[in-house]
Amino acid sequence: MPSKLLARAGNSVPATQNDSSSNRASQQPGSSNPEKNEANGGRVYLTTEPLQDIADSVCVHPRCPFDDPHIAVLDATLGSILKDRPRFLMLDFSMVDNLDSAGLGYLVALQKRLRAENGELLLYSLRPKLQRFIEELGFGSFFSVALDLPYAIEYIEKAVKEVFPILTQCPACSATLSIAQPGRGRCRACQAILTVLPDGSVVLG
Ligand SMILES: [Zn+2]
Repeated sequence: MPSKLLARAGNSVPATQNDSSSNRASQQPGSSNPEKNEANGGRVYLTTEPLQDIADSVCVHPRCPFDDPHIAVLDATLGSILKDRPRFLMLDFSMVDNLDSAGLGYLVALQKRLRAENGELLLYSLRPKLQRFIEELGFGSFFSVALDLPYAIEYIEKAVKEVFPILTQCPACSATLSIAQPGRGRCRACQAILTVLPDGSVVLG
């Protein structure tokens, strides 16, 4: 729904501000956007909002390159979001024009941390260049990727409502497993640690 998306985009703040406004911007302690990095001339690196359609899920919009110089500032906000143990973390790449190996390493760590608590990271609106970079480094199937937010929501809703429960095979020992929902657990036959993705596929680890 375009109108819904526009409404969501409404609380965004421009990523860059004129330098002359930095003094005023740094004097707004009651800002409605806790992610605002006021020590940096009011520049907004990231905005977030809960997803209305899916419980325990959050939508995050980075507004800077996902690279080595920006990992610390991104992690400061993402780390606090993880404390709420989101079921799905939707990461919007529409305003991210660069991803380097440090940024990808951070995404891998983020996905592992989420999965350890039965969460899932979902990337959407990735530029083709960034998508290719992720695939070239061998992480093409490690992340759930959607074209845009409506597709991402559809992907999750479909996964949760229609895919599960499923009967599938343990990738380690081929025992038949009955799986009720995506998440992380152990094979009852061989005790291998398994991660069940929202689309019903099962991977080791
Ligand atoms: Zn097994």
